[in-house]
Amino acid sequence: MLTRSPIPWPGLGIATATAVGMALAGVSGWLVLGTLLLWTGSLWLSRPEAPLSEPKADRAAVSRDVMRDMIEPLGIALVIFDRDRVFAANASARAALGAHIVGQDGRIALRHPDAVRLLTMGDGATVILRGLSSARSLWQLSRRHIDARYWLVELIDRTVEADIGRAHTDFVANASHELRTPLATVIGYVETLADAPDGLDKEMIARFHETVLREARRMESLVSDLMSLSQLEAEKHDVPTDPVELGSLAARVVGEFAGRDRADRLLLERPEEQISVAGDASQLEQLLRNLIDNALKYGESASPVTISLTAENEDTARLAVADQGQGIAAEHLPHLTRRFYRTDPGRSRAAGGTGLGLAIVKHIVERHRGKLDIESEPGHGASFIVRLPLLAEAAPVSA
Ligand code: ADP
Repeated sequence: MLTRSPIPWPGLGIATATAVGMALAGVSGWLVLGTLLLWTGSLWLSRPEAPLSEPKADRAAVSRDVMRDMIEPLGIALVIFDRDRVFAANASARAALGAHIVGQDGRIALRHPDAVRLLTMGDGATVILRGLSSARSLWQLSRRHIDARYWLVELIDRTVEADIGRAHTDFVANASHELRTPLATVIGYVETLADAPDGLDKEMIARFHETVLREARRMESLVSDLMSLSQLEAEKHDVPTDPVELGSLAARVVGEFAGRDRADRLLLERPEEQISVAGDASQLEQLLRNLIDNALKYGESASPVTISLTAENEDTARLAVADQGQGIAAEHLPHLTRRFYRTDPGRSRAAGGTGLGLAIVKHIVERHRGKLDIESEPGHGASFIVRLPLLAEAAPVSA
């Protein structure tokens, strides 16, 4: 909106001076008055239009709106304070602290004692808080000044970083523990063999050797699984592209178990036609090997293990390994693919398990953009079902 400019004083002054001059020169009073009226009237009507000049209060309202609009779409949580009161909080901040904080006193809005300290701290001050949005959450809050009246608090959610850090520490602790146990056994047995003053009888020595070898193999399996996991972690964003035919891959893996005890328990069901996916053949072999190994370990010793391969629909290959063992209780199902998670640690260790087999399977499935489902009815066995995207067009097959 535009408004008229103030009164045109210089023009009016000249008009008045001219009228006085005319009167002094003896011009008729009516003519002088008419000239003065015409002149001032034209000056008034022709005065230029001036741009808006807002009252101070309106200007402040506009800049408050600008500040509010500017922070609203930002992904980082921001709260603007007008002295001690919350004047605006963007969507991310409202999601973390609640929409009710807008307009509240800062001490009530921030509620956490360490966060409230920010109200009296200087520009650039930072505090780290636990439990601001949820009991486990970890937030970093920093204070930045806008001007003498307004300042903002930037809230950065560090919960995920803290969780990753904790998971990493737990993983290293678990891996060290898993390695230390067989290592302690090996050292103990070797020391006994070396220290026996009169030697040990042959049978005893054979038993000691057997134990040392078993524990050394356990360490070897653990190190090999740890290396597989770390390689999978490194490659997880790199989607494999080689065409792999799952029928011949499954036949090859089942064939590897031939000669080992329990191999006659394996039943492979595969269709006549080829079922191909884009994949990493050696990782898919490892996936199937781990699932078959578990089914043999945890299934009933005399019962069959079925490996079935089908094209579920025109987009999806379905590879399932089913056993007829004791199965898995429902509360364990969501955790089975966590590293070192075991439903029965004693049984797993006795069977030479590392606790990493299903974590490796999950990583391989994720790298292939597939899905892993675990179904079990306790007492009636377990099925591990892997779904992978089928290769779109027929391509030369490498496996
Ligand atoms: P492990 O080396 O202990 O076998 P995995 O990661 O392969 O480690 O499996 C994790 C746990 O899941 C096992 O310890 C076992 O408790 C359970 N599990 C895996 N496969 C089966 C199965 N086929 N039947 C019953 N439980 C199973």
